[in-house]
Amino acid sequence: MKAVQYRAVGSAPEVVTVPDPEPGPGQVLLQVTAAGVCHSDIAVMSLPVEAIGFPLPLTLGHEGAGTVAALGPGVVGVNVGDPVAVYGPWGCGVCIKCAAGKENYCLRAAELKIFPPGLGAPGAMAPYMIVDDARHLVPLGDLDPVRNVPLTDAGLTPYHAITLSLPKLVPGSTAVVIGSGGLGHVAIQLLRRMTATRVIALDVSEDKLALARQVGAHETVLSNDGAPERIRALTGGRGAEVVLDFVGAPPTTSIAAAAAAIEADITVVGLGGGAVSVGFGTLPYETTVTSPYWGTRAELIEVLDIARGGGVEVHVETYTIDEAPLAYERLHAGKINGRAVILPDP
Ligand SMILES: [Zn+2]
Ligand SMILES: [Zn+2]
Repeated sequence: MKAVQYRAVGSAPEVVTVPDPEPGPGQVLLQVTAAGVCHSDIAVMSLPVEAIGFPLPLTLGHEGAGTVAALGPGVVGVNVGDPVAVYGPWGCGVCIKCAAGKENYCLRAAELKIFPPGLGAPGAMAPYMIVDDARHLVPLGDLDPVRNVPLTDAGLTPYHAITLSLPKLVPGSTAVVIGSGGLGHVAIQLLRRMTATRVIALDVSEDKLALARQVGAHETVLSNDGAPERIRALTGGRGAEVVLDFVGAPPTTSIAAAAAAIEADITVVGLGGGAVSVGFGTLPYETTVTSPYWGTRAELIEVLDIARGGGVEVHVETYTIDEAPLAYERLHAGKINGRAVILPDP
């Protein structure tokens, strides 16, 4: 079968032919219907060789949806033909974090060399993929896999970040969303669906700010040195109670720190290598800074329920498997409005 692989450090992703996978004991073979293209793949592909914790080549794709095609020995809980989404942050299933459904924070994943699909284990950018355990599959029901596959990361990750700050997202509050791309344009919709906060969206691109307004942002601001002042002006000088930084690069973490209100939450989600320093006088009083990773299995089920109720609609551009390298190029150039999704026909 074809697969989109990252084969050597510093190289671009390639479409290659690999053997068809077969499910071992406890594993599920999925016929992939859709795979999302995420900016964190680009972050991983720009790491130096010593910083990559898994072997290459790697089949990409950590946002996956498909139909159960075959079950390995001993698998229960899913049936051939079930439409499913893949919960990506695989853990051991046994430790105290996994027991709470927080496999994204598994205490033993590194030690046991358990990697998410597309980020160490073979991912979803191929006609078939192996899912290591049926518990990592969530029923899609009648949700369209192509339009909803990005919710497994671009929905789950902002959903988890927003839930951390729900007590601060009261009427009269302001939430700033930095980066109105794949995750950001979903975050705006989730904020509107889940809270009464006013949403100010930032991006460097006017096209993305137009999408931000279309999906519910109350205000949009170009992401530059003047952005914190503009946010202060829009909030009567107070700043934002919650800042969600989906870029996480040094320029945006600076904006996040400068835009925060007293007792704000600053949540750095993006992998851009930036940081917010904490210490007396560096931030408004009692500001909390956190950097979460992905979300829980239960939260993925909740996000899919929101989608089922019409509360979130991902804007997708579709590509064939042969066009996947082009999708990554366009993403890298900031040219994807919403999310790119690969359709790997068998
Ligand atoms: Zn991702
Ligand atoms: Zn675990």
